[in-house]
Amino acid sequence: MRDLAAALARNVKGRVLAQGPIRWRPRRLASDPESADAIPAEAAAEQGLSWEELEAEAMACTRCPLCEGRTNVVFGEGSRSAELVFVGEAPGLDEDRSGRPFVGRAGQLLTQMISAMGFSREDVYIANVLKCRPPQNRDPAADEVDLCRPYLLRQIELIQPKVICTLGRHALCTLTGYDGAMGRARGRRREFLGTTLIPTWHPAYLLRNPAAKREAWDDLKAVLAVLGRSVPPRG
Ligand code: SF4
Repeated sequence: MRDLAAALARNVKGRVLAQGPIRWRPRRLASDPESADAIPAEAAAEQGLSWEELEAEAMACTRCPLCEGRTNVVFGEGSRSAELVFVGEAPGLDEDRSGRPFVGRAGQLLTQMISAMGFSREDVYIANVLKCRPPQNRDPAADEVDLCRPYLLRQIELIQPKVICTLGRHALCTLTGYDGAMGRARGRRREFLGTTLIPTWHPAYLLRNPAAKREAWDDLKAVLAVLGRSVPPRG
């Protein structure tokens, strides 16, 4: 995980900052290549874990207080050799009850978005930054993110996708350290841990703001372009 943390730090400081005026607030993991020592000791245990070991560890995880209120750990699901990984923020009520990511109304819209791209949910991988539901769906706390993020980073490391599509501002910010408005970040792809990261709106936001669906579709078309796939005809 030290290598991954160092790569993350290089990514944020070396590449993204150099790309333009967009404002970044590096988090602890990303702020300093020397900060690997700041990673909690138990988080470093993810390094080298197999899928089975990683999932078993997450399912029994008690690293942060969110373990106390969860019904299920929402580890993530989909193809473990996917070219495309979607990353959301955290499980909601439906996800906590089912143990599956993105199964509520927002999840149904995400499924439609994936289908419009010519994929099924089984073709991609879907995960969240946090594996357990924050109470009342509040924003993740920084220490919760720092403790849980190693699971996601190891998942990405195991999958080695071509594209990571972050859903919403929180997923983008907690993954990369960006601290600006979502509207300024979307439409701009960037390198991230050896993959291409393309941010788009969270499906829950799209349910509240249908006019933004056009922008989201533009983002998904950008994902298809990176994957070398043509845009399916609208059904
Ligand atoms: S949110 Fe993550 S770190 Fe916290 S208990 Fe759940 S799996 Fe562990």
